[in-house]
Amino acid sequence: MRAIVRAAVHGIIKNCLREKQNEECPRCAINAPGERHHACVYWSLDDVNFKIKEISSSLCMESVLNIIITFGYALQCLCLTQEHLAVGAELVDKVTEAEDPNSVLDEIIKPTDKCLM
Ligand SMILES: [Zn+2]
Repeated sequence: MRAIVRAAVHGIIKNCLREKQNEECPRCAINAPGERHHACVYWSLDDVNFKIKEISSSLCMESVLNIIITFGYALQCLCLTQEHLAVGAELVDKVTEAEDPNSVLDEIIKPTDKCLM
């Protein structure tokens, strides 16, 4: 269940980042070819980190919990405890408070979690 919590937090934030990219880069929004004409290519690591902090600090934990429950149910291993909820909230806080949220986000996922992605 801890792996599902990690995969859910990581996946939700990455998905929100992709959505933000589609909102802020007109070429991504239409899935246009020609990478160098994309505004998103010029985002610095600081830009990406700022966007990740914006996303993680405004996440609705109730929605995160619903996604974790859905994953657990779908994988037939739904056994949620207070500890799992605390882990999820801790991970979101860790990303929000990090100096380099992008690296912290990638470190959330362990090699054994990749099958859940
Ligand atoms: Zn783009």
